[in-house]
Amino acid sequence: MLRELTHSELESFPSLDWSDISSRLTPQNRRSLESVLETQNGSDLSLEESYTLANSEGDDLLGLLVAANMLRAELAGNIVTYVVNRNINFTNICFVGCKFCAFSRGPREADAYFHSLDDMARKALEAWEMGATEVCIQGGLPRDLPRFYYRDILRAVKNAVPQMHIHAFSPMEIVYGVELTGMPLADYLSMLRDNGLSTLPGTAAEILDDEIRHILSANKHSTAQWIDVIRTAHRCGIRTTSTLMYGHTETPAHWVRQMRLLREIQSETGGFTEFVPLGFVHQNTLLFHQGLARTGPTLAEHLKIHALARVLLAGSINNLQVSWVKLNRQLSQLCLHAGANDYGGTLMEENISREAGATAGQYTSPEDFQSLILEIGRIPAERNTTYSRINIKLPLDEFSAEQALEAEFA
Ligand code: SF4
Repeated sequence: MLRELTHSELESFPSLDWSDISSRLTPQNRRSLESVLETQNGSDLSLEESYTLANSEGDDLLGLLVAANMLRAELAGNIVTYVVNRNINFTNICFVGCKFCAFSRGPREADAYFHSLDDMARKALEAWEMGATEVCIQGGLPRDLPRFYYRDILRAVKNAVPQMHIHAFSPMEIVYGVELTGMPLADYLSMLRDNGLSTLPGTAAEILDDEIRHILSANKHSTAQWIDVIRTAHRCGIRTTSTLMYGHTETPAHWVRQMRLLREIQSETGGFTEFVPLGFVHQNTLLFHQGLARTGPTLAEHLKIHALARVLLAGSINNLQVSWVKLNRQLSQLCLHAGANDYGGTLMEENISREAGATAGQYTSPEDFQSLILEIGRIPAERNTTYSRINIKLPLDEFSAEQALEAEFA
């Protein structure tokens, strides 16, 4: 019998073991979860089985959360990573008009801004001096952007700090850069790579379904264009993240189809470094005020999407990030119990979620990340953007004997 879980039942799921919950699951969900736990591979699930998991409620949902946490322990261990980075939104001027966005401004609005190349170089240098290994650069799309401006930003940053990892430009900005320059996509991406672009954020994905995309933003690139940019970037040796925005007009079936699409791309290219579910922050958006979207995700949805991603992406994309700017402190910790293994970046100056109404702040220091991670009994470690280097900063005597052993061999 399905029943809605109370907040306190949801919040206490981390104390459950598989043996406490497995006998209470419906037979199909139990079979699905046991099969992924055994093979550690989400590709074993059919579309129907995946839809059923995505619609889990009551004990089935608790079982999904517990199974995701077990899979996380197997696939990513007990280390929770973070990256020391600086977010730089080089302009908030944008003509696209996405209805879920409260960040963009018209060029004549009083608080419109546009950072010069010198500003970008200075911000990157400041970030480097504060210990950042990455700058994450994205912005609005202004109509009169100089044709090679994205390339020029890369040059300015690299001149100032040659060792900085530049994680920059959403697929939407890449589509715009191609339009501005008239270059073929692969040539354009290769030019950016040769001028210092290291990785690309897999943002601007929202929901990769054109009907939903049309509601969210009539002017944005299509699903096919997003896939094309990502596949081409991977083929050019530029790895990317992958994202999904949830809690607005979509259904769990959209989550399933998007995760399966990401698996398919990953099996061809191996280019995704991580998956990041991004909860819709509704307060200051047109989408919400026009009555087109619900009021952001519920607690059950936040937990479910992280757990579902861990299960469906198991064996394909094994790094699952919580977006601390969109979740609060306690909720991000709960999502780390529901399958996630990464806290994302320190950011230093987060703007986009804050403008939409998020209250988690603009910066989380490495020390704050370390405390949040230790509070949930896991091992904090700084990583680089591509997860190829992991550095445990705390002395091993801060950990239990078991954790210290895992930390030593990380
Ligand atoms: S999400 Fe990006 S492209 Fe859309 S309106 Fe906001 S700044 Fe512009």
